[in-house]
Order: sequence, then C-alpha cells, then structure tokens
Amino acid sequence: AAAPPLLEVNNIEVVYSEVILVLRGLSLSVPKGSIVALLGANGAGKSTTLKAISGLLKTEEGSVTRGEVRFDGERLNGIDPHQIVRKGIFQVMEGRRIISDMTCVENLRLGAFTRSDPGVRRDIDMVFEYFPRLRERTGLAGYLSGGEQQMLAIGRALMARPRLILMDEPSMGLSPLLVQEVFGIIRKLNRDLGITILLVEQNARMALSVASYGYIMEQGKVVLDGEAAALAENEDVKEFYLGGH
Ligand code: ATP
Repeated sequence: AAAPPLLEVNNIEVVYSEVILVLRGLSLSVPKGSIVALLGANGAGKSTTLKAISGLLKTEEGSVTRGEVRFDGERLNGIDPHQIVRKGIFQVMEGRRIISDMTCVENLRLGAFTRSDPGVRRDIDMVFEYFPRLRERTGLAGYLSGGEQQMLAIGRALMARPRLILMDEPSMGLSPLLVQEVFGIIRKLNRDLGITILLVEQNARMALSVASYGYIMEQGKVVLDGEAAALAENEDVKEFYLGGH
C-alpha cells in the first residue's frame, strides 16, 4: 500500500484582513519522505499556502476560513506557529530572513529554540558538515553572500530537527551555479536525513528535477498536478513554466 501522506491540505480557503480571498479551495498531499514541488506564477498563492501550513499566516492578518491542514493525521488549523515547529514543521521563508547582526552560530541556535537537549552543539557541527563554508565565516551573518545566507537559513531549519521543511523559493537571487549547489543540498537532506520537503519555486525546471510530484497553482487553486517527470514533459507546463523548451 502507498505510504500515508505526512501532510494533507484539504480544500482550504484563506483570506487576508477578513476580505481578500487568496486561496479558493486548495488541496495537496505530501507523502512521507518525498519532495513535492508547488509551482505557479507570481501571486498565485504559493507563499500563502506555506504560511497556512506553518501558522505564520496569523502574523499577516490572514486566516484559514474553510478546509483543513493535517500533519501526520493531526489537525493544525488555529495552532500557533511555535507549536507547529514543535510538531516538526519548519518554514524557510522567502528572502532568507537571517539575523544580520548575529553570527552564523547564533543564527543556528535560534533554529533550535524549541529544544533543550544537549544535542544542539553536535547539530551545529552537522550543519557545518553540510555547509563547510559557513564554518569559516565567523563574522556577522549580514556580511555573508546571498548564497551563504540561503545556506544559513536552511541550516537554521535543520537545527529544529524538522520532519517537514517548507521551502519558499530557495533559488531566489542566486547565480545558476549556486542554485545547483542549493538544490543538491536539498536533495541530500531528503536522502540522508529523510526530511520531507514541500518546495515552492519560480524555477520550475529545477524544482521538477528534484521533486517526485508537482502541483501547479493559478489564482488560489491547483490547476494541474502529477508526477514531476510527467509535468516536465507536459506541453502546457513547458510553454508557460519552462520557457517554451
Ligand atoms: P510570489 O511568488 O510573488 O510570492 P505567491 O504565489 O507566493 O507569489 P502569495 O505571496 O501567496 O503568492 O500572494 C497571493 C496573493 O495574496 C497576492 O495577490 C498577494 O498580493 C496577496 N497577499 C499576500 N500577502 C498578503 C497580505 N499580507 N495581505 C493582503 N494580501 C496579501
């Protein structure tokens, strides 16, 4: 039998400030251990979907007004973002959001805010094994390059020991070479650590190359979904999301 989904989003509707309807019956499912891509044009509602799952929607006056989010069978609607991190979901925000006047190690410790176990120090070393360059950068994180900041943001997520990472546009602002490197790491985290990943991307080609399944959103709904390899060969997807090649 197929593995049960780790994350299930069932027919959710999301509004901002009680008036602006942004998600209009969105459903998706993320199997345990998989990488799933969520694609779509600017403004389709991809970031909103991630925030509806992580609880961060609340911080922007947004709310889920219909439908439900389930993680490992448990309903998450209305639960505070901190509690959701404790349950094993960590969102890596768009634009990285690292603390620029703290060091790498201090930023990494922030990711472990839910933990009091003695493994934190060891996990900082583990993050440095994934991102050796960060170990050498002992100054303030604000001086890191864009790629290094993205790596630090992913490293900070790892510090929470998540079961599911919600990744919002990890390729944003990075050179093609760094995009390759960051996606290589995403694949590795999934393979080595078994972390399930829901990946939002503008770079559809890259996202479909690491994902096993993909969803395409338009105006707050899923308009197409399927195996990543099939989507990459789909004529409409090629024309609208893969630059016609
Ligand atoms: P992008 O790639 O540009 O981030 P997206 O697919 O992630 O696009 P969202 O950021 O989820 O889309 O935005 C979806 C819609 O919701 C947009 O029309 C946006 O203007 C609106 N929106 C997003 N955040 C808020 C907010 N805090 N208050 C009101 N409207 C918002």
